Amino acid sequence: MKIVKTIAEVRAAVKEWRSEGLTVGLVPTMGYLHEGHASLIDASVRDNDRTVVSDFVNPMQFGPTEDLQSYPRDLEHDAALAEAHGADLIFNPEPDEMYHEGFSSFVDMTVLTQELCGLSRPVHFRGVCTVVSKLFNIVTPDRAYFGKKDAQQLAVIRHMVDDLNMPLEIIGCPLIREEDGLAKSSRNTYLNAEERKAALVLSQAIKIGSELVKGGETNAEKIVSAMKAHIEAEPLARIDYVKLVDAATMQQIPTLDRPALCAIAVYIGKTRLIDNFFTEDVKA
Ligand code: AMP
Repeated sequence: MKIVKTIAEVRAAVKEWRSEGLTVGLVPTMGYLHEGHASLIDASVRDNDRTVVSDFVNPMQFGPTEDLQSYPRDLEHDAALAEAHGADLIFNPEPDEMYHEGFSSFVDMTVLTQELCGLSRPVHFRGVCTVVSKLFNIVTPDRAYFGKKDAQQLAVIRHMVDDLNMPLEIIGCPLIREEDGLAKSSRNTYLNAEERKAALVLSQAIKIGSELVKGGETNAEKIVSAMKAHIEAEPLARIDYVKLVDAATMQQIPTLDRPALCAIAVYIGKTRLIDNFFTEDVKA
């Protein structure tokens, strides 16, 4: 497995693979890899001849008061994990390799990005769409892999690829959890022991909501209220949102009469965590 820092090196590797008629999968990440990322790499290795993992903490998707500086980084650990799972190349550029002086072009989206995380993180999805578009142009993958952990991001990327006729397939992969239920996230490292315990209210609320859906409840307000009540009982938790939205448009719905996403964002101390379930996955 190779680790490269420049766009030219990625292009050269992909060109060689293409000349041999090989297919290429891309797994975009911000690094500090865990089993959630590993499951995406596994899926790409299974589907494609070669797998590229991008490992880049993208400054453009962080707001001015967010955790860009403190975001955890460990390239050595990432390389070992990616290699163990069969990746062929890690692309780990410095910010100025991705955003040269005078950079001024962006990919943005309306509607889907004006709900859920888009409300509390106004610049986030413009940064995500721009960097993912750049990665697609640099790597030119046949397929790209995204986790359902970031359900709105997955919907946004699918929509962008469709709107802009990008020639690749987007594969959504299941949300991977810790044994006690907490959704795996690089940001879990911010939690102290007390907060780590308190963070379980997210997956517990997801369980409460998904059980209600499984039992046939279709009233969004009832589901959301039950989930909120559980989270609010934890003193270290502060709700950003608990919402049921149309799974394709991300617009809030009062009744579960179509495939829906139940998404939550909760601060545990200073750390903002997300979790979710898709009603279609619960019913299946
Ligand atoms: P990140 O490095 O957090 O930007 O995530 C990179 C990719 O890994 C995104 O597509 C995430 O949705 C995915 N991912 C992160 N955590 C998990 C998880 N617990 N389960 C599945 N996918 C995940």
